[in-house]
Amino acid sequence: MSSFTSTPPIMQSPPMSALQLSDVSKTYGSGRSRVTALDNVTLALVRGSFTAIMGSSGSGKSTFLHCAAGLDQPTRGSVWLGDTEISALNHKARTVFRRDHVGFVFQAYNLMAALTVEQNVTLPLLLAGRATDRGRLEHVLDAVGLADKRDHRPAEISGGQQQRVAIARALITEPHAVFADEPTGALDSHTGYKILDLLRRTATDLGQTVVMVTHDPLAAAHADQVLFLEGGRLVGRMDSPTAAAVAEHTTHLRGW
Ligand code: ADP
Ligand code: MG
Repeated sequence: MSSFTSTPPIMQSPPMSALQLSDVSKTYGSGRSRVTALDNVTLALVRGSFTAIMGSSGSGKSTFLHCAAGLDQPTRGSVWLGDTEISALNHKARTVFRRDHVGFVFQAYNLMAALTVEQNVTLPLLLAGRATDRGRLEHVLDAVGLADKRDHRPAEISGGQQQRVAIARALITEPHAVFADEPTGALDSHTGYKILDLLRRTATDLGQTVVMVTHDPLAAAHADQVLFLEGGRLVGRMDSPTAAAVAEHTTHLRGW
């Protein structure tokens, strides 16, 4: 049963959560051109949860994702990933932390054309100077259903399979959280469904914490909860979302 509430997710002490934001604000520009892209956002996500972020265009979804993932620095407030306060790290330390502990899945898969599936998946380990744990590699390739495609190059597999490579690549480092920005935007609905099911299982079976920005109520329905942003503020949350309940709610928001 879907339940909508305007109460923010319960706060926990930082090490208990995979991701925690406390009073996070982000402003761009200054004077009359100043824009508040995120406005006092506070939330905590438990490990192994799958959260969808929704909101109209310009509501702050990308800014949220960038601040939460350490790609960008908030103007105020703190961001914790696991037991590290990433908002307190300097640019270089944040880059290293991100490389080692954060997974990304984007609409454009950003795979290396010259590398095989296996080489693409293990690239983050190579960049981090870490040895490949063969057991982890097999586990991740199995989880995304690409064990038999490991020697193929991106051009030799389908778009859905390429996105599964990107998910495996995001999972290989056992990140604190995986951030996905419209991960099914470039896929047909059947393939998109399989990717969403995979993200769902990534959270449930592998215990990864997954945060996904999406416009699509059908996609959001795969998550444990949906967080709604409006004007940079967290304006509501829906637990156990169904596509119908999400669609019903988003029609009430401005700009949809
Ligand atoms: P969404 O992803 O929900 O469409 P964004 O996070 O991209 O929203 O943007 C939130 C607000 O911040 C918008 O008003 C946008 O114009 C503004 N914004 C985002 N990035 C920048 C930037 N680099 N410089 C100035 N304004 C920005
Ligand atoms: Mg955006």
